Amino acid sequence: MCGIVGYVGSQQAAPILLDGLSKLEYRGYDSAGLAVRNGTEETEVIKAKGRLKVLFEKTNGGAAVPGTCGIGHTRWATHGEPSENNAHPHMSDDGNVVAVHNGIIENYAVLKEKLQAKGYIFKSSTDTEVLVQLIEYMKVTNQVSLLTAVQLALGEVIGAYAIAILDKEHPDEIIAARKSSPLVVGIGENEFFLA
Ligand code: GLU
Repeated sequence: MCGIVGYVGSQQAAPILLDGLSKLEYRGYDSAGLAVRNGTEETEVIKAKGRLKVLFEKTNGGAAVPGTCGIGHTRWATHGEPSENNAHPHMSDDGNVVAVHNGIIENYAVLKEKLQAKGYIFKSSTDTEVLVQLIEYMKVTNQVSLLTAVQLALGEVIGAYAIAILDKEHPDEIIAARKSSPLVVGIGENEFFLA
């Protein structure tokens, strides 16, 4: 069991993500990470093996990662050892798609082979990275929005998931989806939360 969180609004995202992840710690995890968007700047991804405290220290309580849109994750490894490299968020080859995922992509091996045959390079041993690369592949080959690319990619996937995804082109947008894993959306005044 792991935890995912997301925030988009006018407050600083990272401290909210860390606070949200701390509330999900009881579910158990082996590593943690977050990705934050600060306007049109490159997405910042910070990961840490072990306790959430390590991620908290690495990001100075979130202060080191400014930005008002982000996603976070505590991982319970199912595919690939517990390590910083396998920790989420995972990023697509072109760096445009960044995601966190709770669950298992059962047909990841077949999908990975197909993507490798098309030249995609994988940096982790996770099933999650396969989903991230598949979303990028759908986006690029079909020239569609992130939302449509996610819908197309999930049509190919067998498994359980709650996912939250960032797209380089849309710095203040998070796309989320779920199947057989829980996901809730909190709606504030001009702000949204995911867990
Ligand atoms: N299957 C994914 C992984 O091993 C996600 C595990 C989880 O739900 O934390 O990275």
